[in-house]
Amino acid sequence: MAKVLILGGGFGGVVAAEHLADQLGDEHQITLVSRSRQFVFYPALVRLAFGKAEPADVSFDLRHTLLNRRINFIEAEVAHIDPFERNVTIAHGEVEGKLPYDYLVFALGRRLATERITGFYEHAHHLLNVDKAISFGKAVKKFHKGRAVFGQCAGARLPVPVYESAFALARKLEEEGEREHVRITVASHTTLESELGDFAGAVTLKKALDAQQIEYLPNLSIDSLTRNSAMTKSGDAINFDLLMLVPPFRGSSAASYLGITDKEGYIHVDSTMRVAGLDRVYAVGDCTNFDGPKMGHMAVRQAEVAAANLAAEIEGRAPVSHYRHEMRFVIDEIGAGTIYLHKDFSINEAATVRQGHFWSWAKRVQEKYWQVSHS
Ligand SMILES: Cc1cc2nc3c(=O)[nH]c(=O)nc-3n(C[C@H](O)[C@H](O)[C@H](O)COP(=O)(O)OP(=O)(O)OC[C@H]3O[C@@H](n4cnc5c(N)ncnc54)[C@H](O)[C@@H]3O)c2cc1C
Repeated sequence: MAKVLILGGGFGGVVAAEHLADQLGDEHQITLVSRSRQFVFYPALVRLAFGKAEPADVSFDLRHTLLNRRINFIEAEVAHIDPFERNVTIAHGEVEGKLPYDYLVFALGRRLATERITGFYEHAHHLLNVDKAISFGKAVKKFHKGRAVFGQCAGARLPVPVYESAFALARKLEEEGEREHVRITVASHTTLESELGDFAGAVTLKKALDAQQIEYLPNLSIDSLTRNSAMTKSGDAINFDLLMLVPPFRGSSAASYLGITDKEGYIHVDSTMRVAGLDRVYAVGDCTNFDGPKMGHMAVRQAEVAAANLAAEIEGRAPVSHYRHEMRFVIDEIGAGTIYLHKDFSINEAATVRQGHFWSWAKRVQEKYWQVSHS
């Protein structure tokens, strides 16, 4: 019998647990530890902020869902991993102390390094969790004139909700007859092309921004905030009346002292999703060190690969699956201009870019599929 411990109850952890439960016999024990029993479907948080979804639509109870699949769930905080003694220290929660494992899947996501942006806590909105999305939504409701700024700090690696929020605000103001009273700006630490990793995608997105009179300011690395102004490293200031800013991301602090990460704290893995330099440990999702944006579909695919290889390892077989780094996303809230982009990072070819209402519908269907298959 093997004890498999999965850390993290997001896309990566949940999919790894489910696939392992499908592939391993009942004699093996699968346990998932996460600090919250709520799974959050993050791609829906822009719609939550703009009043198009309710909190109950974007999250579900993990314990119930996992137990139905014979996976134990522990609601607790992971503090420390000892890969040599093969145990995990749990700081507080339903259990405390050390949990032993035979095999580990690390899926703790990324950390928001808000401490790197002076004044972030006091002056910026973000929508990277349910509560913050709701409070940003309240600020949007009260906002009728002035300048709205949507931005990504250096290291943020999450462009989709930045653009979706800017488009959603433009649309809302248009519907309410207030668009002419508001200047909407998207500020980025880099260029559109390097944000999306593709020239054609950048051209399509720029045209969509222009069509909605949304200004795009590249190469502005915001590093401090006051009540109405964002300052950049080079001394520029951008004034705002409403600010939604994605802070820098860093790897999970639970992995930081193990010598398995790059300088931003992301874990080195090989294409089988095994952690380089450690036995019996796999890592999936936002915590790993792949290039480009950090996305849910990548976490899902990595979790499928890790589960297949971990099951093979337990049964004494060679790895059976390899991860290929691809990016797919839909930038919604543009109506008929909704953008779909697919890029395969392993080949040197332009991305596939499509536009149309269909992609907005497809994104919604994917959300419904998650809800139905997990509630
Ligand atoms: C607003 C928004 C919109 C997005 N839109 C899209 C989109 O359109 N398409 C797309 O593909 N992706 C999108 N993403 C990105 C996607 O949500 C992430 O890439 C995905 O959630 C990563 O999954 P993960 O399992 O690696 O990490 P997470 O989902 O972050 O899960 C990590 C889990 O670990 C738990 N955890 C962390 N630290 C600890 C600890 N110390 N102890 C115990 N538990 C801990 C957390 O509570 C969480 O359950 C969006 C993200 C946001 C925020």
